[in-house]
Amino acid sequence: MEFRIDPLPYDLDALEPHISARTLDLHYGKHHKGYLEKLRKQIEGKPEAERSLEDLIRTTEGEVFNNAAQVWNHSFYWKGMRPGGGGKPGGALGSAIEAAFGSYENFKRTFAEAATGEFGSGWAWLVVERSGRLRVTSSSDAENPLQRNLVPLLTCDVWEHAYYLDHQNDRAAYVQGFIDHLIDWGFVAQNLSVATGGEGDPEADRRYREGATAFAESGKAEPAARKAAKDE
Ligand code: MN
Repeated sequence: MEFRIDPLPYDLDALEPHISARTLDLHYGKHHKGYLEKLRKQIEGKPEAERSLEDLIRTTEGEVFNNAAQVWNHSFYWKGMRPGGGGKPGGALGSAIEAAFGSYENFKRTFAEAATGEFGSGWAWLVVERSGRLRVTSSSDAENPLQRNLVPLLTCDVWEHAYYLDHQNDRAAYVQGFIDHLIDWGFVAQNLSVATGGEGDPEADRRYREGATAFAESGKAEPAARKAAKDE
């Protein structure tokens, strides 16, 4: 299997002022690509090289796990943002958020608390449980909810390299910008639709095929989640 990283789905300066071009250039060009290069070196010529990224995330540990998960996490993070994003989502996703958190405002507060409360380096996630219910969680270093049989819908990178050049130590300001101005709810809605067995609209399906194939593999490994959500 050839591990690779897709091009960023927007220009380097597209997420300003919340995330600067300089941050995005370093974060994508140095950090993300660096994880990919290290992973390739570590598994070259080994059985791990024939397996999927999701498989490595679920079954390895140590440096191979760290680099495999960081490759996956960053690809997922880029796709969860867009210029002019944020705002209150509608449709099935909006209903699922209200069912799980009571209101969109409560979701925002819960996600911000998870992102600012994760001590040290890590990630904040919106995930869907096997029952089909949404949940906010956080993870340390490279950890990924796939390890806990949760299906990721959205993530926010809270390693300092994600925000330090733009916001210095003010992680909360970065997180608020992410929530209010950058989240691509279309990506999240499509991930939820796939995870729960629904069918998306053609445009969303196209974006999904182009952008979230890694997630498709994860979704296939969760038949129970799809069935449970469908039955509700
Ligand atoms: Mn990062």
